[in-house]
Amino acid sequence: MAILVDLRSDTVTKPTSGMLDAMMSAKVGDDVFGEDETVSALEAKLSALFNMEAGMFCPSGTMTNQIAIKCFTKPMDEVICDQTAHVYRYEGGGIAYHSMSSVRLLNGPRGIITPEMIEPEINEPNIHYPDSTLVVLENTVNKGGGACYKRSQIEPISLLCKNKGLRLHLDGARIFNALIATGDQAKDYGQYFDGLSVCLSKGLGAPVGSVLLSSNETIKRAIKIRKVFGGGMRQAGYLAAAGIYALDHHIDRLADDHRHAKVLAAALAGVTYVISVMPVETNIVIFEVSPEFNAAEIVELFNTKGLACNTTSNKTIRMVTHLGVSAALIDMAIEIIKNLK
Ligand SMILES: *Cc1c(COP(=O)(O)O)cnc(C)c1O
Repeated sequence: MAILVDLRSDTVTKPTSGMLDAMMSAKVGDDVFGEDETVSALEAKLSALFNMEAGMFCPSGTMTNQIAIKCFTKPMDEVICDQTAHVYRYEGGGIAYHSMSSVRLLNGPRGIITPEMIEPEINEPNIHYPDSTLVVLENTVNKGGGACYKRSQIEPISLLCKNKGLRLHLDGARIFNALIATGDQAKDYGQYFDGLSVCLSKGLGAPVGSVLLSSNETIKRAIKIRKVFGGGMRQAGYLAAAGIYALDHHIDRLADDHRHAKVLAAALAGVTYVISVMPVETNIVIFEVSPEFNAAEIVELFNTKGLACNTTSNKTIRMVTHLGVSAALIDMAIEIIKNLK
């Protein structure tokens, strides 16, 4: 059966016609020469929004994160993050490969870490130890089922990092989901982070792209590293135009995705083959199937009825709402969920 409702990820969105029009009429130039005014406009728009000095457009969130980590570490350093972190689990060992640094993993509830967890893991200077130089947070936490940090939880972590001389990077692949859910303001974020990675191709619906925000000095270094990574793009303004369009039109509507995720979670909580559903904070629903089932067989059954989603372990399944899924499609997904078998 053809897939009717695709809840595998918020990366499956396709550009809307308004976004395509914006892309088609973009003014472009060679961005490696610093001459693409649409790329520059996107970088300026996001850095102003988050109150940071400068931005750098990249093809992916993996690239913005890995470049930031490389800017903030040197070989033999150590990065502190939660064990669920995308930078550690899903970026192919990039921290070891690109930055030659080790990773100290914490175990926060739903991936949310605190100053009390971080502080004892910061190494004192000692020839036996790697130098702890960077903390990475993720907001929202993907593997934590879209759990968010509030500004009040970030502030003391930032303070600890400043006091201990560590840098702080935010993997903000879904930062706008966090801002919508918490009511926090983007402009307050700049003061807390040395680097901030914003993704345009998740819930915001652009086809490609993430932007790294940081200081002028760090972005200058980051552009050099991007070139070496092979990420210097030429007339990338066509892609940046999609990002600008997304920032202008697709932020407020993330609240719809959050509402849809809550409706899905409520339906899942009522079916016999589900034993628990993680509380929904944003656009991600993770649930555990009953012991007699295996998550992959449930996903396969959903698939045969036209609902696509992914397992996150042999007992858990993830569904992600996004701008390609209307309220009517959510109703269709719920019919499939309730009438499985
Ligand atoms: C998707 C994602 C990224 C970056 O992914 P790309 O596919 O490389 O753009 C980074 N962090 C988190 C938490 C993500 O979910």
